[in-house]
Amino acid sequence: NGDHLILYLSSGIGEQSTTKLFIDGKFVESKSPEWLDIHNPATNEVIGRVPKATHEEMLAAVDSCSRAYHTWSETSILARQQIFLRYQQLIKDNIKELAKLITLEQGKTLADAEGDVFRGLQVVEHTCSITSLMLGETLPSITKDMDTYTYRMPIGVCAGITPFNFPAMIPLWMFPMGMVCGNTYLLKPSERVPGCAMMLAKLLQDAGAPDGTLNIIHGQHDAVNFICDHPAIKAISFVGSNQAGEYIYERGSKNGKRVQSNMGAKNHGVVMPDANKENTLNQLVGAAFGAAGQRCMALSTAILVGEARNWLPELVERAKGLRVNAGDQPGADVGPLISPQAKERVNSLIQSGVDEGAKVLLDGRNVKVKGYENGNFVGPTIVSNVTPDMKCYKEEIFGPVLVVLEADSLDDAIKIVNKNPYGNGTAIFTTNGAVARKYTHEVDVGQVIFFFFLIFSFFIHEHGWGIQFYTQIKTVTSQWKAEDATLKSPAVTMPT
Ligand code: NAD
Repeated sequence: NGDHLILYLSSGIGEQSTTKLFIDGKFVESKSPEWLDIHNPATNEVIGRVPKATHEEMLAAVDSCSRAYHTWSETSILARQQIFLRYQQLIKDNIKELAKLITLEQGKTLADAEGDVFRGLQVVEHTCSITSLMLGETLPSITKDMDTYTYRMPIGVCAGITPFNFPAMIPLWMFPMGMVCGNTYLLKPSERVPGCAMMLAKLLQDAGAPDGTLNIIHGQHDAVNFICDHPAIKAISFVGSNQAGEYIYERGSKNGKRVQSNMGAKNHGVVMPDANKENTLNQLVGAAFGAAGQRCMALSTAILVGEARNWLPELVERAKGLRVNAGDQPGADVGPLISPQAKERVNSLIQSGVDEGAKVLLDGRNVKVKGYENGNFVGPTIVSNVTPDMKCYKEEIFGPVLVVLEADSLDDAIKIVNKNPYGNGTAIFTTNGAVARKYTHEVDVGQVIFFFFLIFSFFIHEHGWGIQFYTQIKTVTSQWKAEDATLKSPAVTMPT
């Protein structure tokens, strides 16, 4: 409802609406002289402004995290768990409202925006099993009267830097897991979609998170540099482009911080001729064009193997059926891109394919959306006859563009995938278990998804690794000798 928008994003919607900072449990107006506009991608109207937080404000935020850490890290694990149990319920209760805010700022369709929240919610639900996730290990009697055991301990103040494409899911990958482990958290959301993070912070406060356990600052490079350099921050989790991720990884690591950077992608879907055609075509279209291709797990590259080449005309027909419209319009399948610059970039990458000899079988560059003529729309686009040396293959497009390559055999397809420098995820469409197994073993990519043979290894990101990223191991070795076993003299040699 309008109240939430008014509180987090604005005092109404328009140029005067300001995004607050969240410092020490309060939503405060920034004193910054520098502000950035936030646009509705479907219209390019300014819907609010976000500050580049001042140095003093960023210091206040990190100091608040440091102060809160002393009590939060010692708060019982059951009390922390209770907060996240309440939090997951509040997210569920507010999922529609969060989705509306995502659609307004980011552009994706309302249904897809709910999915964005839902995937993040699953991580929050996972944090509720912290009592077993945080267990250490024990080994009794490693020598006489001596036992050894490990504790998983929090690491201190952690920070997260997030991209624009999942305004709910990616922040929710980060601070809930970080915090439930006993860390306090400084979040810098994408300056293009800051509202959703603010609403998530309010819900966390309503769930009972003490002041200072989560702080939010806004900004761009200065805020990122501040996070990479401030000595109180012990770990940084980043999701976004390669350019920013490599920079943050290097600068943060040089300063002795633990850093994880999840970066750009070029995900290949290998289509074998034995695959179920109906399902394959539907899956390909959904995964290539959903969220206008602005997903790190979008299947942006198809490799058609052998006879599967002949499926191209039907693939094009199916993609043509998608409705391009503003995300809040009924029946919309493909929303706008985030900015006019993103649209320009996507269009120029399509053109580069044409210039290098590829064929555009479906061209979404001139799509017109009635009533939204100023939006950043690109319709579903399919580029075939693509070869690995072309720019449209080498670069991440991050738009509703499927580039199609062909291969004579599975071995040839695997060679293509393994040569590509990106490796976020991949899928193989087949009904043959031996083919799927070979692909899994030989392909050099982090996440493999088999379709129609289905094993989902999903969101291992902060789900599985999160607990390791946000904790450190403390090993305790203790010796309790019985009275009569007291040493008679000092033992200076190592016992054999
Ligand atoms: P981005 O790198 O432009 O921005 C991400 C964050 O980094 C933002 O908070 C931004 O303020 C900051 N930033 C941007 N440029 C910076 C720079 N030069 N130096 C320091 N900080 C900088 O990314 P984006 O456009 O918001 O998001 C899209 C990208 O994110 C795509 O490349 C996509 O593949 C990637 N992504 C990856 C994953 C994953 O899990 N691997 C998930 C989602 C998105």
